[in-house]
Amino acid sequence: MAEPKANELMEKIVSLCKRRGFIYPSSEIYGGIAGFWDYGPLGAELKRNVKDLWWRRLVHQRDDVAGLEATIIMAPQVWKASGHVDTFSDPMVDCKTCKGRFRADQLAETPCPQRPSKMVSECHGEKTPPRAFNLMFTTHVGPVQDDSSLAYLRPETAQAIFVQFKNVLETSRQRVPFGIAQIGKAFRNEVTPRNFTFRSREFEQMELEYFIKPDEAVEAICGRVATPAGPGHPGEPQPDWGWQMWHQYWVEERLRFYESLGLSRDTLEEYWQKPEELAHYARACVDILFKFPFGTQELEGIAARSDFDLSQHQRFSGKPMTVFDEELKNAWAKLPKEKQDALWRRYFEARRAYLTRMGETAEQAEALARADADGLAKGWYVPHVIEPSAGVDRLILALICHAYSEVTDTDTKGKPETRVILRFHPSVAPIKVGVFPLLKNRPELVAKAREVRDLVRTRFTVFYDESGSIGRRYARQDEAGTPFGVTIDFDTLGETPALKDTVTVRERDTGRQERVAIAELTAWLEAHLR
Ligand code: ATP
Repeated sequence: MAEPKANELMEKIVSLCKRRGFIYPSSEIYGGIAGFWDYGPLGAELKRNVKDLWWRRLVHQRDDVAGLEATIIMAPQVWKASGHVDTFSDPMVDCKTCKGRFRADQLAETPCPQRPSKMVSECHGEKTPPRAFNLMFTTHVGPVQDDSSLAYLRPETAQAIFVQFKNVLETSRQRVPFGIAQIGKAFRNEVTPRNFTFRSREFEQMELEYFIKPDEAVEAICGRVATPAGPGHPGEPQPDWGWQMWHQYWVEERLRFYESLGLSRDTLEEYWQKPEELAHYARACVDILFKFPFGTQELEGIAARSDFDLSQHQRFSGKPMTVFDEELKNAWAKLPKEKQDALWRRYFEARRAYLTRMGETAEQAEALARADADGLAKGWYVPHVIEPSAGVDRLILALICHAYSEVTDTDTKGKPETRVILRFHPSVAPIKVGVFPLLKNRPELVAKAREVRDLVRTRFTVFYDESGSIGRRYARQDEAGTPFGVTIDFDTLGETPALKDTVTVRERDTGRQERVAIAELTAWLEAHLR
């Protein structure tokens, strides 16, 4: 069957999402609100599965990552220190003809509201020069609405991790290298929300801040700093890994995560940001992109952010963000003098460069950097960080786009009928098992089917359905992405004695059917739902 055109395909996906209860426009009965979306019954399950899988893999299945759940509104100084108050903005232009507001860097991809066949860059409306538009939503805390009560809805979950770094370190008994993970809402007043949920104003992030030793500390302890030998997963973490190894490790770990959800490598792309695209504090950043119908776009960014974030909070809060590393202290004492001097100087230069960039006077930067390098020699440093930062909603959209497929069957009268199958990987599928009595007007079938439903739902999400022909019920579950359908028929009741207490299990993607004993059903499903 011919591939539907990209925008046609997106229209079908948007309408399926609404019709089947994956995603609805927020506040739809009032006409909706641009950039806000609600997840319906199937969408809520899908989202929960994705977040659980991320959490399980990053927090539960590792010894070196601890979880955090912080508030959405934080002290406004957090956003001053992070740079968001001053620089978290997009360039915006106004069109004097249609009065529309657009992102200056996206005019070539945004349809003109008055002439949708033309992009804003090509339409004739005169545009204002670009102005910086800060993307943070503001609010006021308490009853007085003035500058002193101004607060922000967080535009990312990451900053809370930095702000709580010391508390987590002290209470979790972790030691660098270790990570802190958080899932939660983030808000950005995007100038032009678009591509369905891809660019929303309220969305969820899954972020990990993985804290590592500065390379100078690694070198002092191990006598060398390992760097990547080539592409691919570098294997189990080692004590001599520098930031480049850790960065590559996290890029590969994250790619494996996407693969485990069914997004094979050929649906993804890695984009290594060019030096001129990097934020001033970042040493490297890789975007993991997914091939959406509307283009290949970012799902997640994995940035090596140096020690910028903790250093900023140290300067703004006046609270030390340094950690003490006994191993470093002992190793340093044993280094030859020239090695100590070389490492001291490298650390000093890096700290001085950062402090100077942040606006400290030359003298102040020199004095502070000297103190930092002296601290390193005694075992103290501000950890560096690798940040894999993913958007939940973009991943949900990628999973739906990837799962979407159409098949054409012929109905009983020989007429072709096209229907949708969502081929979700079983681990993310909102409903794992459909349970169906063959006929709803046979109480013994219904009773048995309910028994099976109750058994299966102790372990898996189940949808019990007794209405309509069995074919229609299968089709409804195919469209919801349910991997398996279990049918209770007369053989289950013993019509064919050898088949008593067995059920038919139908596989969504192949339509293949297998007879499974009820006593073995949960174990069978367990094995097949991985
Ligand atoms: P973009 O360049 O697409 O605006 P970004 O580089 O600003 O994204 P980050 O600040 O790195 O994004 O945020 C990390 C992740 O959060 C992104 O990879 C994306 O998955 C998600 N995200 C960011 N902005 C949005 C948004 N407006 N809607 C949905 N998800 C978002």
